Amino acid sequence: MSWNISNQGLTAETLLNLESIFALGNGYLGVRGNFEEGYADTGIQSIRGTYLNAFHDVIDIPYGEKLYAFPGTQQKLVNIIDAQGINIYIGDEDEAFSLTEGSIVSYERSLHMDKGYSERKVHFRTPSGKELKLHFRRLVSFTHKELFAINLTLEPVNFTGAIKIVSRVNGDVSNYSNPNDPRVAAGHSKRLSVVGCGIQGEYLHVENATMTSGLRTACVTRHEWDGSWTVEAQSNDLAGEVTATAQLTGPLQLTKWNVYTDTLRHSDALVETGIALQEGLKALTFTNLLEQQHQYLQDFWKTSDIVIENDAQLQEGIRFNLYQLLQSAGRDPHSNISAKGLSGEGYEGHYFWDTEIYMLPVFLMTSPDLARQLLLYRYSKLEQARDRAKEMGHSKGALFPWRTISGTECSSFFPSGTAQYHISADVAYSYIQYYLAEQDNAFLLEYGAEVLFETARLWMEIGHYHEGKFHLDEVTGPDEYTCLVNNNYYTNVMAKHNLKWAARSFEILHSHDETGFRALTERLGVTAEEVAEWSQAAEAMLLPFDEKLGINPQDDTFLRKAVWDFENTPKEKHPLLLHYHPLTLYRYQVCKQADTVLAHFLLEDEQSDETIRRSYDYYEKITTHDSSLSSCIFSIMASKIGYHEKAYEYFIETARLDLDNTHGNTKDGLHLANMGGTWMAIVYGFAGTRLKESGLSLAPSIPSGWEKYAFRLTFRGRLIAVTITTGNVKLELLEGEALSLNLYGQSIELDSSKPVVQPLKG
Ligand code: BGC
Repeated sequence: MSWNISNQGLTAETLLNLESIFALGNGYLGVRGNFEEGYADTGIQSIRGTYLNAFHDVIDIPYGEKLYAFPGTQQKLVNIIDAQGINIYIGDEDEAFSLTEGSIVSYERSLHMDKGYSERKVHFRTPSGKELKLHFRRLVSFTHKELFAINLTLEPVNFTGAIKIVSRVNGDVSNYSNPNDPRVAAGHSKRLSVVGCGIQGEYLHVENATMTSGLRTACVTRHEWDGSWTVEAQSNDLAGEVTATAQLTGPLQLTKWNVYTDTLRHSDALVETGIALQEGLKALTFTNLLEQQHQYLQDFWKTSDIVIENDAQLQEGIRFNLYQLLQSAGRDPHSNISAKGLSGEGYEGHYFWDTEIYMLPVFLMTSPDLARQLLLYRYSKLEQARDRAKEMGHSKGALFPWRTISGTECSSFFPSGTAQYHISADVAYSYIQYYLAEQDNAFLLEYGAEVLFETARLWMEIGHYHEGKFHLDEVTGPDEYTCLVNNNYYTNVMAKHNLKWAARSFEILHSHDETGFRALTERLGVTAEEVAEWSQAAEAMLLPFDEKLGINPQDDTFLRKAVWDFENTPKEKHPLLLHYHPLTLYRYQVCKQADTVLAHFLLEDEQSDETIRRSYDYYEKITTHDSSLSSCIFSIMASKIGYHEKAYEYFIETARLDLDNTHGNTKDGLHLANMGGTWMAIVYGFAGTRLKESGLSLAPSIPSGWEKYAFRLTFRGRLIAVTITTGNVKLELLEGEALSLNLYGQSIELDSSKPVVQPLKG
């Protein structure tokens, strides 16, 4: 059961959420879990969607008052050509197969996370009493990135006779919008038009172009009919369609092979490329595709699975989250992981800091190749980040956009957008973490150091010395209910780390590869004097501390503000962002999400355990967790300070957030950062894993009620299995050379000859 998400629900609300939950993707292509036949005219709401990661249009941002350097345009992920459509008509009266007409004798829907496909089995009775069984299976291929395939089997029950299938490829598509929710687009729903549509031999093809960005995409579809069918294809200006008729006397099958190309990744001849790809796929059957998916997923789960014994609900939750992360991660320099992955249109397909701080850590220690891809995406946007820094008045450095697809800033609300300068330190942090995990000097030389140098320069641009301390003014930290402040603790400590590591990389590369080092530093004009300034600023960085409370204030003025009246804020007023003007929120001590507490997780050695505990106690009381990026961090930190019950409670909130729609907006897409957060809550939280310059360390505990949990970690070419039971901790080296690591503060040697087993502490 824990490898399958099964759902029998057919209410309107469940169906809408399940469209996100049953979304399939491979990092390039994503298809929502819509019904092939649609919902006819039943009034059931559906967000029918197919997306190519990073495939976007550019739209003007309308401002009442547009001030200097406000971005003029933004990008928007576009819903593309719909190849999901299959309608089935039964008998001479053409009775339509529809879950809302006729009746359902039995129904079962599953997402197979170990095998990489979804299926729907329906025993259907038409209004006139004709019964048949329909079995839909669909997959988005991990091994052929352009391919989305649907396989349909029809089987007679009490009826034999005429059957008709109409299969459609529809270019007349638009995006979803909701003007009342800032987390989804307010308008601009029609961004794509059909520029070509037709039939070439056995292929239907539709090609669409965006209105402004000049990008094009095409879908080329082939139908493979099993049984004796009469097939006819037709097309109009907007769609291609195949109508097939047969006599249903025994099982009949259709496989619909849809190949998507786009001008970001393929040559201009999109249809020809699609046909060529289709020709290459002809050697395969649907069964072969299933086998390939299975193989791919076996490799993925080998390093990524987390086993939780005797809690099926949580087991399902954690696997689902990891599976969706895999489906969402971009694998080329154009694409990253959007806040909703490829499962919906919330946040318009934009990439945020969510990737670096919440999702990349998972890949970093389970599939480092995917982590590398995500880093390469940011590297490919470095030039735009330099331009943005200039536009923002800095003479040097790189300022990464708060939200973007193609690399330029898309945020129109600068207080909680552009002002979140910390994103540049977050990007730097991810390169540092990659270095710590892989110790890849060549990667540091080719990509990492440049990012670290340019982001370090940004802090020197916005920072200044005051009474001997280095200050960063007028920024916004992660907590979006407090904006435009001086010396946000999170930003300052992350910038300090950024500066320190820029200097450290300078040293590392100097001794690693003198020639490469010279070429790089000359190209970027980095000198030993400049590096000394970075180190000095890092050293002098102001990390606000309140003597009276013994905590790190979130910023210079945070603790002076009035505390939000939580007691008299009714439940219906949450999330606060949908009910209060931002200025109202800014005036109070109220946090949308972990801010200082997150800084204490990412850079725990900057403060004593006591300060960290007191900060946790303080901020917990004033945090609403209105952002889904919050609970996982509180879980990790509760584990660290020994609040085990709390750690577990927060963890429960994260593990099934989308499966149980606890934030109420799963319909707009899944919460990918939270999904990464679940993994971190187990690996960094319960198991106390840390990755530092000193190496890898663990300090495991086990939530009460669990008997056993286990996971694997990749680390510098090794694969390590970690198993924690109520009695002990077992570490096994499955692949790679012997290594030393740290368990409960003691150094241990791990080699492949035998596992290390130690009693569980705490
Ligand atoms: C959070 C941000 C996050 C964004 C996208 C917002 O609600 O406050 O921290 O980056 O969602 O997930």
